[in-house]
Amino acid sequence: MRKLNVFPAAFLLISSLLAGCSASPASAQPQSASPSTQEYHEEVVIVGAGGAGLISGITALEAGQDVLIIEKMSFAGGATLLSEGYIAGGGSTFQKEKGIDDDPETIYQDLMKGGKEKNQEDLARLYAENMGAAFNWLTDDLHVPFTEASPLSYPEHTHDRVMVVDGGGSQYVQILKTKYEELGGRILYDTKAQELLTDAGKVIGIRAEDKAGEEILLYADAVLLATGGFGASPDLRPEGLEDVVFYGAVSSTGDGIKMAEKIGAQTLFMDTMKIYPQGLLNPQEKELTDEGALVRNGISCAIGSKQTTNTTGSIYVNLEGSRFINENTDFVSIKEAQLLQPEKKMFLVMDQAGYDAWYAYTSTVLSTELAEDWFQREGQPIFIRAESLSSAAEQAGIDPVKLTETVQHFNEMAKKGNDSDFGRELTGGIEGDTYYIIELKLRTATTLGGVKTNDAMQVLDTQNEVIPGLYAAGEIVGGANGVESMPSCMNAWSLVSARKAASTILENLNH
Ligand SMILES: Cc1cc2nc3c(=O)[nH]c(=O)nc-3n(C[C@H](O)[C@H](O)[C@H](O)COP(=O)(O)OP(=O)(O)OC[C@H]3O[C@@H](n4cnc5c(N)ncnc54)[C@H](O)[C@@H]3O)c2cc1C
Repeated sequence: MRKLNVFPAAFLLISSLLAGCSASPASAQPQSASPSTQEYHEEVVIVGAGGAGLISGITALEAGQDVLIIEKMSFAGGATLLSEGYIAGGGSTFQKEKGIDDDPETIYQDLMKGGKEKNQEDLARLYAENMGAAFNWLTDDLHVPFTEASPLSYPEHTHDRVMVVDGGGSQYVQILKTKYEELGGRILYDTKAQELLTDAGKVIGIRAEDKAGEEILLYADAVLLATGGFGASPDLRPEGLEDVVFYGAVSSTGDGIKMAEKIGAQTLFMDTMKIYPQGLLNPQEKELTDEGALVRNGISCAIGSKQTTNTTGSIYVNLEGSRFINENTDFVSIKEAQLLQPEKKMFLVMDQAGYDAWYAYTSTVLSTELAEDWFQREGQPIFIRAESLSSAAEQAGIDPVKLTETVQHFNEMAKKGNDSDFGRELTGGIEGDTYYIIELKLRTATTLGGVKTNDAMQVLDTQNEVIPGLYAAGEIVGGANGVESMPSCMNAWSLVSARKAASTILENLNH
């Protein structure tokens, strides 16, 4: 570690940077000093100890390169820690051993289709061609334990390629962090990057602050931004998406995007967020961002919702009490259909068996105590349990007569085993003496826009020229997934882009 305390030259450098000029540390003359300023000289500084930061750190360390990660929180993980740990592993040995034949061209076509053909093509190619090898690295070198995802098949993927880390995102981060530290990697926690330092257009380091607001200057030959997305930053959220419930990481405030933009980086797709259906409004969860805004007010119950409509007769209806979609179709189609309904509202209607199937997969994020509290309360969230369907409908604000008709009709179709309305495979109807209605909100955690890079993960300016010394990986990079990422493709992107960024840095430093 090359750390120096008391750095008089740095003070002058920062003053000049704040004044809009850039200066080289060698040429800056000391005038005054802050005794608490710390200075580091490193070859590689990575900003962010989430999935992408840790993976690029491990990759660099495995190749013998020294690295330092700075992390603004007091712990590692970012959104990766919160994630369920689903990772697309198309083309991997693990997938092959399940008897599934996948190939980069098919993965590429799926990614493009999933991204509405808006994907940055070179990034999508990089992604498709390296997904399998990167996944193999996780299983073979890092011994990350995977199982096939359950429910296995996601309609967006033409081949079964979705795997899940045993133990989810927290276990995944634990393995990555342990490996990084075993290899001698260092992390400075509570250290928030504030600004990129430049010299004649080249990035030469980062100005950061510790928890007490003391300045830390980190000079480096290569700076890798792995700061994640911007869903938690109200000022960066696209217009019209303010009401979508947020269940992401409070650290996803787009810091890296803002810092890179300040020195001329190009961004793309900043007007998109990854919106999914099947969220729950959780009015009790009030996490604050650095800016003090209420950001985390939602829970995802996607897997439980998918499971209950797959295995029981549960249905989605709108405020009018009508079904409007095959409930077992892909997430994007459900979301798009929901957006067309009155007040953009969608409700899940279940009997006891349906609720049990839903809750079996939701209990990890919704305690029985909280669920009971919601059943008892009036107002938001709409979380109803009642002895009759019409009473449940009335409490939810849904037309009770129409809903009763809808359920009767659905039950008749279920008996015949033929959904003549939407072509869903039917596994039963809605019956018994207990009925549940839950409002499923649109939800978001992840953003798809960010800085533009080339396929070597070098950040590009507005003229599509490389900004020397600056690299990016993970959710901060826009483009690879287009405007609609497929399930499990954000963690996989983080993995592939981080491996690539580290190898580009290694190549550039060794030339
Ligand atoms: C609840 C949830 C579930 C998800 N489930 C899945 C899933 O199952 N499969 C999937 O593919 N995707 C999933 N995602 C999305 C996926 O997890 C993320 O896209 C991915 O983890 C992003 O990784 P990252 O390393 O780019 O960012 P992050 O993991 O968010 O890491 C960024 C790190 O940078 C740090 N940082 C930010 N700004 C600064 C700064 N100024 N200075 C220093 N440090 C800074 C942050 O604190 C954080 O630790 C999920 C996301 C959420 C929130």
